[in-house]
Amino acid sequence: MLKRHHRLALLLFLLLTWSWGVRPQSNADDAAARLIGEILAHGEAFQNLRYLVDEIGARLTGTPACAQAEAWTAEKFKEYGLSNVHREEYTLFAGWRRGRASAEVVEPVSRTLTIASFTWVPSTPEGGLTARVVDIHRGAKEDVARAASRLRGAIALTIAEGETLEDLLESFYRIPALVRELTAAGTRALIVASQKPYKLLDTAPVFWNEVSSIPVVSMAKEDALFLRRLIEHHGVVRLRLQVENRLTGPVKATNVVAEIPGRERPREVVLVGAHLDSNDLGPCATDNGTGVTAVMEAARALVKLGLRPRRTIRFVLFTGEEQGILGSKAYVDAHADELDHIVANIIMDIGAGRAQGFYSMGRPDLEAAIRRVTAPLIPHGVRQISTEAFAGTDNLFFLLAGVPNLVMIQDPLDYFTIHHSTPDTLDKVDPGDLLFDAAVLAVTAYNIAEQPERFGRRLSPEEVKKLAADSGLARQLKAVGIWK
Ligand SMILES: [Zn+2]
Repeated sequence: MLKRHHRLALLLFLLLTWSWGVRPQSNADDAAARLIGEILAHGEAFQNLRYLVDEIGARLTGTPACAQAEAWTAEKFKEYGLSNVHREEYTLFAGWRRGRASAEVVEPVSRTLTIASFTWVPSTPEGGLTARVVDIHRGAKEDVARAASRLRGAIALTIAEGETLEDLLESFYRIPALVRELTAAGTRALIVASQKPYKLLDTAPVFWNEVSSIPVVSMAKEDALFLRRLIEHHGVVRLRLQVENRLTGPVKATNVVAEIPGRERPREVVLVGAHLDSNDLGPCATDNGTGVTAVMEAARALVKLGLRPRRTIRFVLFTGEEQGILGSKAYVDAHADELDHIVANIIMDIGAGRAQGFYSMGRPDLEAAIRRVTAPLIPHGVRQISTEAFAGTDNLFFLLAGVPNLVMIQDPLDYFTIHHSTPDTLDKVDPGDLLFDAAVLAVTAYNIAEQPERFGRRLSPEEVKKLAADSGLARQLKAVGIWK
């Protein structure tokens, strides 16, 4: 209902500004109305998304499919008339391909269970691994210590507790340390119960910049609970686990870059980005095909309308995000000399829902500036500003470098159920919502690039440290090994 209401309001707005010839108040309003009109009437985001998802499919960094997506999006940017279209290469620590994975209870009953390998984890030994399963509950340090005498040679099973997003993140950020502790204790593999419903699996890497020391698999929550009950009733439960992945040495990947050069201050840059790579259980329409095609659409519409703002708008499709935000890290490293001139980095990566505002990523000082540049979007429901900061997407290394970084707040829909899993398919995306999100990116980027004053200042390393400590970000960074 809410969606229909928003769409009606938008239609009314467009009718008012077009057919009655009522001209909006300012240049910013005028540009916003033209961008929204162009994107909603002629936008190609959904057609592009269909191609990316249905024709190219899953896009694990370093695979031929991801390379195909990199080449195709670069061609599209050229076709749309963007300037300086190019690909910037970096090296990913290892290549990885998924093989078969199976799990079978062999004692005290016989049962086949539903699993999938985490990404960038090794295989089990030739012929599989048959071992006792040890329940380490939620996998806290105390749980590992309590089970220590039983862990050597065993397969550990952990089932996260709690239902909130914070609980989910908490257990997610615990996994790297847990795997290190289990490896030290001689554990041979780890089963992580998926937190998704209806036997859906969940895939992710264990570490953000190295291959896991032991095989780690996602198991359907229903099957993990079944294993727990068996252990409670029988004590000894043995499982045959077989994981066959293919690991290679370092591989090359690229970030795809395109620009609209600024007409007055071309060295000052507003960056608009999303990640082109994906996980591989599904074709990853909402994580992050939607972000990619919204960024491409914003670029298309700005060029089509001949809107050339004061500063440069640079569109970047990052890869390596699902392996630990590696493409945007490589980008920040390679552009270290330019970071003083990047006035903002705007990222979309929270699914397919309608834009509702922006995370300022721990920057209350940006609130007034965000209100100003998004003013034309407020009547369309884009009015939330959250100062929350988190380590989840391609804003992170810009944040750590002190560069103002915004992540779009979107209607969550059922994003956290479908992402990183098999149902992340095209049918989860509403074409109208996708176009609306593209319009929000276009208007926000244009207004930041066009306004006379700079959007926000770059924080000093000390200020970044304080921001990270105050927001809880520091804890997440330590968990995944980005901060020591
Ligand atoms: Zn994502």
